[in-house]
Amino acid sequence: MVKKIVRDQFFLQQKSEPATEADRQVVEDLLDTLRANQDRCVGMAANMIGVKKQIIVVAMGPFIFPMINPVITKKTGEYQTEESCLSLDGVRPCTRYKEIEVDYLDQDFKPKHGKYSGFTAQIICHECDHLAGRLI
Ligand SMILES: [Zn+2]
Repeated sequence: MVKKIVRDQFFLQQKSEPATEADRQVVEDLLDTLRANQDRCVGMAANMIGVKKQIIVVAMGPFIFPMINPVITKKTGEYQTEESCLSLDGVRPCTRYKEIEVDYLDQDFKPKHGKYSGFTAQIICHECDHLAGRLI
């Protein structure tokens, strides 16, 4: 189900809790909501639809995938850039990394480890910041 985007900064600055298999519907709702906003959005965290659970969805071109309880285990190639966010106004400076490695659960709650670079790494870092209650 497509959900409304949360823009309440107090809510968005709270940390999310680990997701469990009871949160499968949240994963579906997050995928639906990103698809509905894909013209202006490349990633989303569950708190952006009002659920403080550690679930993000990432668009890699037309391909959208969820990451549950993601933990960035390695990051290299620090650089400065600017980003915007569906929950915030304007463009803001931030620090990102050219390459990252992530432990996470896939949509079936199976443990995975992935290496990501470039724009995809940037999106994952932005969404993981949301889980930690950090806004750009
Ligand atoms: Zn954002």
